[in-house]
Formats: sequence, structure tokens, C-alpha cells
Amino acid sequence: MQRSEIQAKIWAAYESGDLILACAWCTRVHLEGEWVHADRDALSSIDAPVTHGICPTCLENQLLIEPPRVRLEPPTLI
Ligand SMILES: [Zn+2]
Repeated sequence: MQRSEIQAKIWAAYESGDLILACAWCTRVHLEGEWVHADRDALSSIDAPVTHGICPTCLENQLLIEPPRVRLEPPTLI
């Protein structure tokens, strides 16, 4: 996806009042079912409602860096 196309889609989402899902770890935004790189400026220049999530790539990286420390105990049968 071209940079201008991403910008246009961010605008379109903003215009339609959609919440834009942005990755809190990198510069990807979730547009039309895929995570694409977007400029931080593209998001900050418009006062769009942005919610932060994590893209699959960063999720994978986070799991590799920090394996979950909490181990779930198997349920005890009464
Ligand atoms: Zn990410």
C-alpha cells in the first residue's frame, strides 16, 4: 500500500468516525484487515480517535523477549 493511499484511508476512517487501531510498539495501523506502516504524523495531524493495540509482528517479538511469567494452574476438580 502506497504512503498516500494509507494517508487517504486514515482520513477516510476518520471521516466515517471509525476508531483507528494503531500498534503501540511500531508505526503500523490496522486498515481494511491488514497492518500497514503509517507515519506517526499522519495520525497526529488529524484529531482522529486512535486506540492502541499490538500488531501480530510486535506481539510475536514481545512474546520472544518476555515469555509469560505467570503460569496458569490447571483447574482443580472438586
Ligand atoms: Zn507493531
